[in-house]
Amino acid sequence: MRKNIVAGNWKMNKTLQEGVELAKELQTALKGKTVNCDVIICTPFIHLATVNGVIDGKTVRLGAENCADKVSGAYTGEVSAAMVASTGAKYVILGHSERRAYYGETNAILKEKVKLALENNLTPIFCIGEVLEEREAGKQNEVVKSQVTEALFDLSAEDFGKIILAYEPVWAIGTGKTATPAQAQEIHAFIRQTVAVKYGAAVANETSILYGGSANAGNAKELFSNPDVDGGLIGGAALKVDAFLPIVEAF
Ligand code: PEP
Repeated sequence: MRKNIVAGNWKMNKTLQEGVELAKELQTALKGKTVNCDVIICTPFIHLATVNGVIDGKTVRLGAENCADKVSGAYTGEVSAAMVASTGAKYVILGHSERRAYYGETNAILKEKVKLALENNLTPIFCIGEVLEEREAGKQNEVVKSQVTEALFDLSAEDFGKIILAYEPVWAIGTGKTATPAQAQEIHAFIRQTVAVKYGAAVANETSILYGGSANAGNAKELFSNPDVDGGLIGGAALKVDAFLPIVEAF
């Protein structure tokens, strides 16, 4: 069966010291508890190695928020997939709408990042989702289909099976607006069907598809109760243990 997953995306928040405290607090809060999902925290690059030392990698798992589309070399300021993996991180968010919108990340660039992440044994948490105008024009299915097709559908079935998808309607990220559970279920089912057409029902049924966009303690249970919503990618509510924990416990 596919996994339930709750992943936090810290974005550009927390100093190193604050981040280490948050990770420790989360590890302590969850240790010994039975939860029905994998819990991942995705932190800024500079936090990774130190945070890896204060979590056990099972109760709380570690990921980065990005990696470079190049292997190594003269790319000042970039951090490669191999460097991310060398910190002990096991996951990497790729294709977040903020990266697409503010840093010009195209599906072609993301395809390279996914390839390098997989070569370095990192599990991509690959984000897709439409902007408000596209939703209002009824184009959301078309948009997510082209995002997965252009960035991911060159992968072998085996490699695609390693990907976690995150559907994040851009109009819901950090806005306090959430997709309704029915909207989320409808498009998650469409995404799974799109995967099934390309890779077959078995691969599609094993693919975890997370919802992201102003998910919180108040709406997580209803969102996660949908058959095609396998968890959440959480921004704002991942920055405090008492906001994040109830989402983890919503399963
Ligand atoms: C995100 O950044 O992936 C996200 C879903 O943010 P928020 O939960 O704050 O909307």
